[in-house]
Amino acid sequence: MTEHTKVDHSSDNLDDTMPSTPGPTVLEKSKPRNAKMAANKVECNACPVLCQITEGRTGACDRWGNVDGVLTRIDPVVIMRRPVGPPAPSALEAASPEQQADVGSVALAEDPETDLFVSGVGSGTTYPDYKPAPFIVSSKANGVDMVTVVTEGIFSYCSFKVKIDTDRYLGPEQSNIRHKGEIVGHVTTAEYGSQMLSLGGVHHLTGGSKKEGRVTCDMMMALGNKQAVELSIDGGAQLVVQAGKAPIVDGVEEKRMRVGCGSAAIGIFAKQWFGHADEVVVVDDHITGVLTEHQAGRCLDIPPSGIKMKGRKSTPGRYFQVANPGNGWGGTDISDPLSIIEGFDPEVAKPGLRLLITSTTGEHAEYFELDDALQPQRKPMPEPLQKTVDRIGENCEPSLASVLFLGGAGGSLRAGVTENPIWLTNSIKKALVNVTCGGAPAYIWAGGGITVMVDVMRMPDNSFGYVPTPAIVAPIEFSMKLEDYERLGGHIGDVQSISEVLAKANHRIINWVDPASPWPIAGKPVLG
Ligand code: SF4
Repeated sequence: MTEHTKVDHSSDNLDDTMPSTPGPTVLEKSKPRNAKMAANKVECNACPVLCQITEGRTGACDRWGNVDGVLTRIDPVVIMRRPVGPPAPSALEAASPEQQADVGSVALAEDPETDLFVSGVGSGTTYPDYKPAPFIVSSKANGVDMVTVVTEGIFSYCSFKVKIDTDRYLGPEQSNIRHKGEIVGHVTTAEYGSQMLSLGGVHHLTGGSKKEGRVTCDMMMALGNKQAVELSIDGGAQLVVQAGKAPIVDGVEEKRMRVGCGSAAIGIFAKQWFGHADEVVVVDDHITGVLTEHQAGRCLDIPPSGIKMKGRKSTPGRYFQVANPGNGWGGTDISDPLSIIEGFDPEVAKPGLRLLITSTTGEHAEYFELDDALQPQRKPMPEPLQKTVDRIGENCEPSLASVLFLGGAGGSLRAGVTENPIWLTNSIKKALVNVTCGGAPAYIWAGGGITVMVDVMRMPDNSFGYVPTPAIVAPIEFSMKLEDYERLGGHIGDVQSISEVLAKANHRIINWVDPASPWPIAGKPVLG
């Protein structure tokens, strides 16, 4: 992304193998505000920047260009094809990006009206939004006339919520997160086996320096487009985060997401340890579990071991703060598991007591036996206990970085759908309108506005763009019955059939990205 407005870009993005189909009519008709604009320029009014673009060049966002004097959306609009039969197992495995190969040469589904979906990716925007959305497309579902309003929303109010599956300590809650030295977000809550990050947002896009806004916008677009992004947390770790890939923490690729907290691990595996160990400690930065004190151990009548733990006892067999957070055992800073044990009560403990200490992922585990002085001595791990440690590992899921886009679509964007925006908002709340982003199902937050949240892995690759205001451009589609669209004051005169879109618009057809996502028009699973 480059910092400037109202100047055009190079023509590098103009793909002369792509038919230059004019963009939406409303844009072609736009009249320049600047009467002195050179004759070989066109003014783009798809966003507030209003670039004046010289012939053969693109505007500041590289999305619109001047092709032979016509304002043209450079990328083709992405149309998605519903699978007509059960996908082959190989297709299921290749949910993205391989599955998104251009299938323009593949035979289309029998009926484009029911089996093709015009997504917002590459659809273009109209600014200001009182103009109809770029595509308002009719279709059919189960014999019912449907309509989908398709646009690329310009989101100033948006962010990415990132879930990092890791036990490792990433940094203090509320710490700033930086990208290329600029603050672009913060560490938020730790969840079950994962650390959450909040990245982007209007505060960083518009409330700081120009550089902060640009860097934030760059980072957000890359993250949404499933690219790897380097982040550093103040007082914490260096991260490489990519949607759908294992996070890299301080240069080490994370492998396992823990089976549960220390207490949960005790509950899950107590029976399997029974008879093979006299005490088991599961080290966890949040809740360390101790078998003999835990309810699971009591239920099995395992006698007390006399162990004395460091940290703060919460409830029986559950300890907080046994060590500091870090990249050692169970998300603590320890490398020696004995460092969290104060000792053994000589009134209770007996020489020869068998002690297993493991982390919540089984990546770290050691076995000890008490000597005559009640000091734990390291011993080779007995096979039955090694099996339980291996099973902890087996029960861990692969660590992933999950990236969810969160955007506010309750503003002027609604006017591109209807003349009375509150009707759209209310219809969405009543589930009369299905909201998708690049075909992916969007979760709509309760309360006011249309605040959508969507998993970027369910969207086509490269769904996100930007404008240099700065703001993020993201696809959004509103699907509903045609009769409901009429009722909510929709731009009925601008409805076009899918066949018209195929005939007129520069388009690209791809396979449906996520077989588990419901077909947006029918509201049913894609293969239903
Ligand atoms: S930044 Fe892009 S969308 Fe905005 S006016 Fe310029 S070319 Fe058009």
